[in-house]
Amino acid sequence: MMRIPLIPVLVWLLSSATCAGENGRIGGTVTPVEKVTSITAVPRSLDVTCASCKRKFTARANAPGGTIKCKACGKSLPVPVYPAKIDKTTGLFEITGVPPGQRYDLIVETTSGRIEGVDLSPFESDLERLRKGPARVNPRAFSAEDREAVSDLITKAKQFENFVRCLYIAGHGDKATALVEKARVQDDKTGKFHSEKDSEAIWRVELWYFRKWFGGWERVSNVEGVLYRRRMPRGQYDAMNWIFVDKLGGIEVSDAGASRPVTIQIPSRLDPKLGRVAGAASR
Ligand SMILES: [Zn+2]
Repeated sequence: MMRIPLIPVLVWLLSSATCAGENGRIGGTVTPVEKVTSITAVPRSLDVTCASCKRKFTARANAPGGTIKCKACGKSLPVPVYPAKIDKTTGLFEITGVPPGQRYDLIVETTSGRIEGVDLSPFESDLERLRKGPARVNPRAFSAEDREAVSDLITKAKQFENFVRCLYIAGHGDKATALVEKARVQDDKTGKFHSEKDSEAIWRVELWYFRKWFGGWERVSNVEGVLYRRRMPRGQYDAMNWIFVDKLGGIEVSDAGASRPVTIQIPSRLDPKLGRVAGAASR
């Protein structure tokens, strides 16, 4: 097995990820402040070292309430999340104690629904993450034709779901990342799906990765990240208010612990092109 030289600062013990004492900070402003309920940072991809078996790996597609599981020994821990302190007068917010040298997505709960950051960076292999360099990308323009080709790979793929759309496609030269929303909902054509009790929906949000290879785009297999998979009554599905915003994702906290200031503008109405919005065109 190839040995990968590790710089100790790049990784930390799985058991320490939730401990105090980390000096990273994310801060900014939220407006209008009266609409915000909470702000939480989640490390969507996290480099960990298993406290039990010492295996090093990258936990991906982390979501609040989820677990990180070591494939080698089966030990699991909750995904660490970092809540913000919000000044309800000025709208200033601050998240402290986050492990530095990682990227975070912000999840903003508001009186209108959930606004969730999403990181559309190109896929990074474990090796690329350990080397701490950016993912290797051949610089080239990402054209309208490229976007069309990637979009076709998503919407024309044969899938269990009967509703599929791209919420985002981000081009990075000869690589691309897409946020894909899929749902299996009952309609006249589908009838009930397997073991369905009453009218139900299965909803998924996934990050898919692509590369341009010998002149054509292809999906990179086996690296997609399932951010959410929820099975729920149809009524609950129709009532969801949950959108995804790229500007609130992939926020870098440097090795020194600093991040860019984050400006959160809560819209008067959530945009149904970015996710689920109750009362928007039903499907
Ligand atoms: Zn382990």
